[in-house]
Amino acid sequence: MLNDEGWVKSTCAYCGVGCGIEARPMITGKLDIRGDKDHPSNHGKLCTKGIALGDTVIEDGRLLMPKMKVDKQWQETDWDTALDQVAQQFSKTVAEFGPDSVAFYVSGQLLTEDYYVANKLLKGFIGTSNIDSNSRLCMASSVVGHKRAFGMDTVPVCYDDIELAELVILVGSNLAWCHPVLYQRLRVAKQANPNLVVVVIDPRRNESCEIADLHLALNPGADVALFNGLLHYLSKTQQLDASFIADHTNHFSEALEAALQEGDVSYITGLDEQTLAGFYETFAKTDKVLTIYSQGVNQSTQGSDKVNSIINCHLAMGKIGVPGCGPFSVTGQPNAMGGREVGALANTLVAHMEFDNPKDREAVATFWQTQRLASKPGLKAVDMFDALASGKIKAIWIMATNPVVSLPNSAKIKQALLDCPLVVVSDCIADTATTRCADIVLPAQGWSEKSGTVTNSERRISRQRRLMASPGLAKPDWWILSQVAQRMGFKEAFDYRHEGDIFREYAQLTGLNNDSGQRDLNLTGLANVSDEEYQSFQPRQWPVIEDQGVSQNRRFFEDKRFFTANHRANFLAVQHSAPKNPLSKAFPLVLNSGRTRDQWHTMTRTGLSSRLAEHTPEPYVLINAKTAAAFSLHPDALACIRNQHGSCFARVVLSESMSDNEIFMPIHWNDVTAANSKPCVLIASDTDPVSGQPEFKYTPVTIAPF
Ligand code: SF4
Repeated sequence: MLNDEGWVKSTCAYCGVGCGIEARPMITGKLDIRGDKDHPSNHGKLCTKGIALGDTVIEDGRLLMPKMKVDKQWQETDWDTALDQVAQQFSKTVAEFGPDSVAFYVSGQLLTEDYYVANKLLKGFIGTSNIDSNSRLCMASSVVGHKRAFGMDTVPVCYDDIELAELVILVGSNLAWCHPVLYQRLRVAKQANPNLVVVVIDPRRNESCEIADLHLALNPGADVALFNGLLHYLSKTQQLDASFIADHTNHFSEALEAALQEGDVSYITGLDEQTLAGFYETFAKTDKVLTIYSQGVNQSTQGSDKVNSIINCHLAMGKIGVPGCGPFSVTGQPNAMGGREVGALANTLVAHMEFDNPKDREAVATFWQTQRLASKPGLKAVDMFDALASGKIKAIWIMATNPVVSLPNSAKIKQALLDCPLVVVSDCIADTATTRCADIVLPAQGWSEKSGTVTNSERRISRQRRLMASPGLAKPDWWILSQVAQRMGFKEAFDYRHEGDIFREYAQLTGLNNDSGQRDLNLTGLANVSDEEYQSFQPRQWPVIEDQGVSQNRRFFEDKRFFTANHRANFLAVQHSAPKNPLSKAFPLVLNSGRTRDQWHTMTRTGLSSRLAEHTPEPYVLINAKTAAAFSLHPDALACIRNQHGSCFARVVLSESMSDNEIFMPIHWNDVTAANSKPCVLIASDTDPVSGQPEFKYTPVTIAPF
């Protein structure tokens, strides 16, 4: 995909919008970057992070060679020695303690082909499902919500629905900073159509409120009550779509009963009756409603129920499967969706096939030609690291992620890794909080060096292409995994020439046990792409089914046929529950956490760009003037934020965007980029009981001048 002027098409390294880029090497060795006008997801637009991609090619601090710790000292080694060691030690652990004694912790930064090989090796050949992704921290609650409502993890809408909607509701989503190109699209749509109403539902008056007609500053964690109140209102005012409910759904009466039994919605949400009624009537009276939600919904001990409370309201009015309408989970990472699809979450098998379906298991075992296929779900991220801490897991391989910084209760994560007999880390960065805990480190290629596919939030598969040579001995993750698999004795099953071989195998697998379209994820139309077609692959949404020839950008559109047993969507009976850790006299403030506009995760890449650093140069804590005064804090001074789990430091920034007794900290800074400024040290490892997603939005803390 090299054009006459030397531009190569690829995709951005960051968020789940999945913008297409074009890149061209410059004489300086850096990359010139521009938006890809032909990419249907962004039409050439990029945000500040995307524009600065050329500044953030990681050169310094790269992991250049495999290294092993010998007598607590790092020794560089060659690939053969390192791969033999990893294979031998994993094989030995499995032989001695069984398959469930090992685990892989992977990442939404991996490409789909990497994910596929990791999942195949662990679930198919080692025989355990202890593989989970850092995407668990990002959108696992949406996966549960989709599966419970639609019978499958399907995103029913697409980006084009933004222009077609008449009401866009942003719930727990600061789209302006976290998915900027989608936000710009929404802003332009609103300029073109002044009747388009935008509602922001968030405890914080976040940056997306700039274009909002209404901001509902609800109490943290009160989303289920808010949407149950909406369901109640729709019933009370007889504005339900009775025929849609009767013809296309199950369990409506149970969901309505739960909504009717909900507590005092005004009290729980902190919103007055008039404001609630105004929002509810706007929802009821508008034909085309798009509800976009993100981490503010998902990252909660009640995240799955929050998702279903939103979907319930869309089902109650038939606002789904219609252009401009539907619930829309936007993902945080560039390939969180690809991981969901190939099964790199502990609770799914592969390609939306499930452990509890014997036909799925049999079909996959036959396809992979294995006798060792795992038969049950494995440990989700937080449980996996608990098992590591208790000694049940004795060998872990961490790929392209930094759990010591990003998981809750980071001190415990670090100690668990230090105590684990074998920690293998593949990464492109030499020194991270996690590589410091490793026994073996393997140099992986980074963005701009590796090649494969990613899927964005609207189910669009795009190519990431190799733009430049990788430094040292860095290799693709799929290659490293395949080499280890072959050394563990699974030679033929992992004999791939390049990533195109893996993509074809995965596409073929999506057709297993799927003759009558039981599953939505179907890429069989791509199962025979030639190497040349794979190289020149144009972005397209799944499903891609041979006899249809074209992908379908909306789901449940024509026939309203869902993927449940009777093809009807499920309402779910849900009710508000209070956050697991209540405020107390000792810890009277709610800590909320999230992203800033110009940084990404733990800043290993975006931290390299001086122009990105200008936006938010240092860790900060947002607090309103009244709460700051109550805690004797002064603007621009340093504050210490602490609770029973730990403490960290940040600069005080006064902001009337914050409600009383609530504070906000960005997640990016860590103990490599700034001493002890990571909110993860304060966050408990409480999770949603169904999705396993941790609570990052409601942490009781106190604050004091430093
Ligand atoms: Fe990259 Fe997301 Fe920005 Fe698009 S919106 S350029 S994918 S960070």
